[in-house]
Amino acid sequence: MNTKKSYAQYLDQQDVLKDFRNEFYVSNQTIYFDGNSLGLLSKRAEQTVEWLMESWKKYAINGWTEGSHPWFYLSETLGEQMAPLVGADPEEVIVTGSTTTNLHQLVASFYQPSGRRTKILADELNFPSDIYALKSQLHLKGYDSSNHFIQVQSKDGNTLNTNDIIANMTDDVALIVLPGVLYRSGQILDMKTITREAHKRGILIGFDLCHSIGSIPHQLSDWGVDFAFWCTYKHLNGGPGSVAGLYVNKRHFGKDPGLAGWFSSNKEKQFDMEHTLTPAEHAGAYQIGTPHVLSTAPLLGALDLFQEAGIKRIREKSLRLTNYFMELIENKLAGYGFTITNPKDDATRGGHIFLEHKEAARICKALKADGVIPDFRMPNGIRLAPVALYNTFEEVWKTVQILQTIMKEERFKKYENLRGVIA
Ligand SMILES: *Cc1c(COP(=O)(O)O)cnc(C)c1O
Repeated sequence: MNTKKSYAQYLDQQDVLKDFRNEFYVSNQTIYFDGNSLGLLSKRAEQTVEWLMESWKKYAINGWTEGSHPWFYLSETLGEQMAPLVGADPEEVIVTGSTTTNLHQLVASFYQPSGRRTKILADELNFPSDIYALKSQLHLKGYDSSNHFIQVQSKDGNTLNTNDIIANMTDDVALIVLPGVLYRSGQILDMKTITREAHKRGILIGFDLCHSIGSIPHQLSDWGVDFAFWCTYKHLNGGPGSVAGLYVNKRHFGKDPGLAGWFSSNKEKQFDMEHTLTPAEHAGAYQIGTPHVLSTAPLLGALDLFQEAGIKRIREKSLRLTNYFMELIENKLAGYGFTITNPKDDATRGGHIFLEHKEAARICKALKADGVIPDFRMPNGIRLAPVALYNTFEEVWKTVQILQTIMKEERFKKYENLRGVIA
């Protein structure tokens, strides 16, 4: 391979998405590879937050129905804007809640144990919040998670095998919840096949798309996935604590939500103030109370950029960036004890690189001292996400160069091999 800096610069010149970097507040002092934990602020997201402040100033209570984006319809408008990113119809998506509360809502709605079918199937590699939520939902229904919660095991500690997942779809399973992309190794699960196999066995299935939305394309409607949920502060760049999203397949429309509130209402009926809920006839039924309008506003601008760039082009560049990253690592960091444990093939590799090293915690500290922002993941993982909308091939090149120096000069030894409070 060509390992020269000039080649990285050449790749940047050829990049059809290169101008999107100017849409973001990117620091020239640092290389930000943590966009899959918290995406960067875009100028457009900043503008729509300002718009929101203005609409509050100008309209006060009337802001719910007046102005360019009446707040009363914002969750639905944004759901429509987000739908292409998950491959769904506009009315199958709503912007509401947080990842974890949406998971609670969806499990409260779709987990209906009956007869022998009482168990929930998940996996042993998912993010802890999902596991806590699922166990607590079992407890609420009076089940013991020690015998009602099945977690598919990983053979290598980093990835899941589709056949192992299918083998766990026994006739006592009522519901399956899995990630679309694993948060550590970045493995993409075969959502299409897994959904088809679950449905063959009469099991409902939902996916957590936190690490896949905005990074890879999805076809949730075509695949027939029952439900999905995701955050918007990672690849979607909605800002810290921005409001999350969820999807419910249209064949489930008309059901009562598990956790109801007045915003679950059909909007025409909501202000009738009746004590019998008439739920919205679409994914909007899974909202609960007043939307967090202030934390929703940045999404209006942030999602614009996805519409312009297109998820297909984003994915193409992302694959090129991670491929280039892996080639440079193999070329320049051989012999330093790193293992690339993200899947290497395009079909199963998500948007980030996952490097394992026994000194990972302090290598991350050394990287930060040299201006590279990685993400440390217990116990020995370094996560590096080159984001298609704002990172460059040259940044990838520089990072590998810096890593090489850190290892050669053993600069990481200055630091303790412990994680910080937020790692
Ligand atoms: C980031 C992430 C979460 C976070 O949940 P919040 O409710 O937004 O705090 C949950 N699950 C997965 C898989 C994640 O990657």
